[in-house]
Amino acid sequence: MDIQNALAAPAITRREDYRPPEWLVPEVALDFDLDAARTVVRSRLSVERNGAHGEPLRLDGAGQELLAVLVDGVAVNDWRLDGGGLVIPLGGDEHVVELEVVIEPERNTQLMGLYASNGILCTQCEAEGFRRITYFSDRPDVLSMYHVRMTADAARYPVLLANGDPVASSDLGDGRHRAEWNDPFPKPSYLFALVAGDLQVNKGAFTTRSGRDVELGIWVRAADLPKTDHALYSLQEAMAWDERVYGREYDLDVFNIVAVDDFNFGAMENKGLNIFNSRYVLADADTATDYDYDAIAAVVAHEYFHNWSGNRVTCRDWFQLSLKEGFTVYRDQGFSADQGSAAVNRIEAVRTLRASQFPEDAGPLAHPVRPDSYQEISNFYTATIYNKGAELIRMMATILGPAKFRAGSDLYFERSDGTAATCEDFVACMEEAGGVDLAQFRRWYTQAGTPRVQASLSHDDGRARLRLAQATPPTPGQPVKEPMLLPLKVKLFGAETGRALADERLVLLGDPAETIVFDGVTERPVLSINRGFSAPVVIESDRSAADLAFLSAHDDDPFARYEAMQQLMLDALVADAVEGDRSNADAVVAAVADTLDDPALDPAFRAEAVLLPSESFIGDQMSVVDPDAIFRAREALRRTLGERLAERWAAAYDGPREPYSYTPEAKGRRRLRNVALGYLAAARGGAADKLAFTQFEAADNMTDRMGALTVLANGTSDLREAALDIFYSRYRDNALVLDKWFQVQALSSRDDTGVAVAALARHPDFTLGNPNRARSLIGAFGVNQRAFNARGGEGYRFLANQLLELDRLNPQTAAKLLPSLGRWRRFDGARAALMRAELARIVGAAGLSRDLFEQASKSLEG
Ligand SMILES: [Zn+2]
Repeated sequence: MDIQNALAAPAITRREDYRPPEWLVPEVALDFDLDAARTVVRSRLSVERNGAHGEPLRLDGAGQELLAVLVDGVAVNDWRLDGGGLVIPLGGDEHVVELEVVIEPERNTQLMGLYASNGILCTQCEAEGFRRITYFSDRPDVLSMYHVRMTADAARYPVLLANGDPVASSDLGDGRHRAEWNDPFPKPSYLFALVAGDLQVNKGAFTTRSGRDVELGIWVRAADLPKTDHALYSLQEAMAWDERVYGREYDLDVFNIVAVDDFNFGAMENKGLNIFNSRYVLADADTATDYDYDAIAAVVAHEYFHNWSGNRVTCRDWFQLSLKEGFTVYRDQGFSADQGSAAVNRIEAVRTLRASQFPEDAGPLAHPVRPDSYQEISNFYTATIYNKGAELIRMMATILGPAKFRAGSDLYFERSDGTAATCEDFVACMEEAGGVDLAQFRRWYTQAGTPRVQASLSHDDGRARLRLAQATPPTPGQPVKEPMLLPLKVKLFGAETGRALADERLVLLGDPAETIVFDGVTERPVLSINRGFSAPVVIESDRSAADLAFLSAHDDDPFARYEAMQQLMLDALVADAVEGDRSNADAVVAAVADTLDDPALDPAFRAEAVLLPSESFIGDQMSVVDPDAIFRAREALRRTLGERLAERWAAAYDGPREPYSYTPEAKGRRRLRNVALGYLAAARGGAADKLAFTQFEAADNMTDRMGALTVLANGTSDLREAALDIFYSRYRDNALVLDKWFQVQALSSRDDTGVAVAALARHPDFTLGNPNRARSLIGAFGVNQRAFNARGGEGYRFLANQLLELDRLNPQTAAKLLPSLGRWRRFDGARAALMRAELARIVGAAGLSRDLFEQASKSLEG
């Protein structure tokens, strides 16, 4: 089958084709007659011709029935529908256009536009959902003031919320009621939101530093109300942090967050009315892990921070998506770092980058942080735009230093407030405020791929020479790469004395190769490089196992300590997986022992540092990924560490028990204890299942319960089934916790996981209709490297079947789960052929969405 079939290929949108809008819409009034089966939307648009041209008004639209079109109060019929859009010929420069359309929220399974989720009506408009509510100029550079009126059944939808501030409400006397909201800040349509439902609120307050009293509300169903305190607290912390760190203040009288169960993303920053996936709102000790708590704080902060980086200053076009997302992820990372351990926070951010962005950069879907083209913009909500985008902001902050970076941020907000801006606008402000030349740095926005830096250190006559050479591998459409500007933090330590031989240096590597000279180096130096992960690159150095072990014990940068340990472990694991060479295991054991014994390190850091790299990250280091060899090598090293350090794990595990509390210290101790449990299980095999089961039953919090269940789910004893059954019975009515039950089985290291996952897909509680549930089973299985890549290809076939089914309901979520199949070039010929066959089957399927077609066809081409 020919995937080059031009007829099947959807249109490509290109950045270079950007033109300013032909018509502006300074004001819009929306009137909703809300009903799950049939909602009538009346809109009143004030439109203005933008510049001198004779073009008609073109409005975007999809999935609605158009009932009426009026221009300046008069019904007209010279309009036409063109490729889903509405074209209205207009003379003159200013008009009022009125439209009436009908939509069907309860039949909206894409979850874009206005839809129903468990009895709640809610919206999701980013990126192009608003056009599924009514015809509109649905692009981010058309900014409008919104006035919204909602009428609905008072019993079914007692709460009616929209953007901005509430201005009126009334009881219509016939069982229906009405509310009106006004948003004084011009915004693009993707930030529109409304919610109607039977909701309860956890109210809070915040007074801004200039004295504005803001009423905060976390809106959920009544039963969930006790689980909203953490989200409310996180919101208040985030508001104070943004004033303190970025000088940004909130600007409306109310700020509302609503939790819904069916949501394609994590959350959405609609002006004054954030809509959240309930997993990023609801938490209590019994149902949420420490990781969940941290994620809630981070996502609440992220969406709140968008009020400035995204809403007050929005994006000119979707190619600039990283302008708001990269910056806002960087801001939420800073917030999280200040809430707990900055070192652990950085480790987690880098782990995420390596798990999701590096493979993207190395695969068929690689794209620059500011892409040049797309078929479906929903496919570009990627780790590259978000996480690599955040690293770009971090590098600029490193190059400028804190004071100048803050000055650049102030300048950006001041200059761009109320506009739709570009990535270039942001960089220009940093350049101006920082007094630096970022010309070469801009390549980070245009070149895809992860740069690789070769570093080698030589030493003689009291002088050390560090030779650095950089190269970025080719990516689709970009065969040749220019050298990048890489900010690399470097420090040398004395191998004998352990002391620092000089202050940390910030090397700005811009040439393909460069040699840095250090004078006064009187003993053999050990190289600490890319400290704090100052550049998102791969470092290839010739440091010995002994030097890495030395750094893991002595480096004064906590990230560099972690990194040295990871490299030591990776080298050992790859040597075993490729050549069966286990000679480096001793060095790993000694380094892990040193880390566990170091009283200066907090438990959270120790827990992170002693974890082995993931199977997929090990695979990323190999020319051909061998999932079975990687699994064997990793299990062998886990067992060796478990056995040889048995007393230390037991000591870490058996420490004094404490009642649950959510503090950074208690979290760190829980983390270390659960990591220790994992190593005890690796050493003792089935004998540890009893220990895990005891913890599972005695746990007073979800972190400990899931820690134990994870060990049991990987095991083979009868206790495994018992624990899974108990967990299921206890939480079968809690969708978010039941997601964990599916996920822990999909991630299991057991030999029969593929069969188990196929059976779970037929479980009565499994549904592709809920994105969280689909991700918990299908998404988790796709990243279980060994199970998914089973030799016969049944994992590939299973995923393809599920994606084809999911695509009919929810193309966005289906497309996001496809990349596991696109990694075929990284595997042996037999596996690659099987993966390609499934990709070809998807591309050839009838009625495929634009979302899934783009991902699958690009993955097949490579
Ligand atoms: Zn965001």
